[in-house]
Amino acid sequence: MEKTKRRPRILIIYTGGTIGMIEDPETRTLRPFNFNHLIDNVPKVKMLDYDIEHMQFDPPIDSSNVTHAHWQQIATQIGKNYNDFDGFVVLHGTDTMAYTASALSFMLEHLRKPVIITGSQLPIGEVRTDGEENLITALQIAAAVDPVNGEPMVQEVALLFANYLWRGNRSTKMSADNFNAFKSNNYPPLARIGLSIQFNNDALWRVYDKTPLKVHLGLNSDVIVVYVTPGMTEHSLRQQLETPGVKGVVLKTYGAGNAPSCEWFNRPIKEAIDRGIVVLNVTQCANGAVSQRRYFTGDCLARCGVISGHDITTEAALTKMMFLFGTGLSAKQVSNCLLRPICGEMTI
Ligand code: ASP
Repeated sequence: MEKTKRRPRILIIYTGGTIGMIEDPETRTLRPFNFNHLIDNVPKVKMLDYDIEHMQFDPPIDSSNVTHAHWQQIATQIGKNYNDFDGFVVLHGTDTMAYTASALSFMLEHLRKPVIITGSQLPIGEVRTDGEENLITALQIAAAVDPVNGEPMVQEVALLFANYLWRGNRSTKMSADNFNAFKSNNYPPLARIGLSIQFNNDALWRVYDKTPLKVHLGLNSDVIVVYVTPGMTEHSLRQQLETPGVKGVVLKTYGAGNAPSCEWFNRPIKEAIDRGIVVLNVTQCANGAVSQRRYFTGDCLARCGVISGHDITTEAALTKMMFLFGTGLSAKQVSNCLLRPICGEMTI
């Protein structure tokens, strides 16, 4: 007799964001509202033959307010419920969605189930909302299994928005008002959403060892982003590098990883590295990679001890450093770990 198929079990973690917002009658601005309001606006969810449970942030937040404590909350819930569910959908504001997706990818080591982050550009109560479709598709992806071996199709943290599923730690918010608001500039989509969901098998993350999930909750916020501009002065550079307590710097450089080759720029960088600060070179370009040996200007940074971030996004660079310092590693150990990808966040 054929074995009856079990209904997929999905846990929705609602953190807030536009998807669940309603207009404040006094200020006419959008504010996060509770989960029941959100789900009442998507009666189609009931048409999915899934067992869905949910939990929500109390109170739900606009994701501009996200901190590492929220990431710890999400990761803790996924860890606690990991064995009871087939997949997880995190509803989140778009503003910092790529940061949260990146952070979770590092915090959830040996993840082998889908963690799908989504949200919307228009609140779910609005007639033209994109929230309904994003939520339904995220649930379907979280429930999708490989027809060959019955394993989850997605075994990583991924970000679903409009027509694409992206690797979480490769994604960036590209538009403040388009429905296709996210993109991975250096990595192909994990799936295209059209009439059907077409997975890109070659791009999906797979690990074949069966080590159980390990949730890392340690995150260190002493990491800053320094953006190189033509107007930069030694004073402003030093002020940033000498921020009390700073352990890591994401240095946002021009093009292939270039910055002024002058003494006034390189000396403070070298002094910071000698003090034990880890400096990671990430390009300001949306697309392409750092190649520090290509120009003299980039090579000066390499000679100071700046590490190449290759094609990593700012979001992944920042959260990777927060994660590595959070595990208690020394500056030297963090530097070594930055040379290699941990979970598909860069190509070397
Ligand atoms: N400010 C909102 C948020 O990030 C924007 C959005 O969800 O699209 O929570």
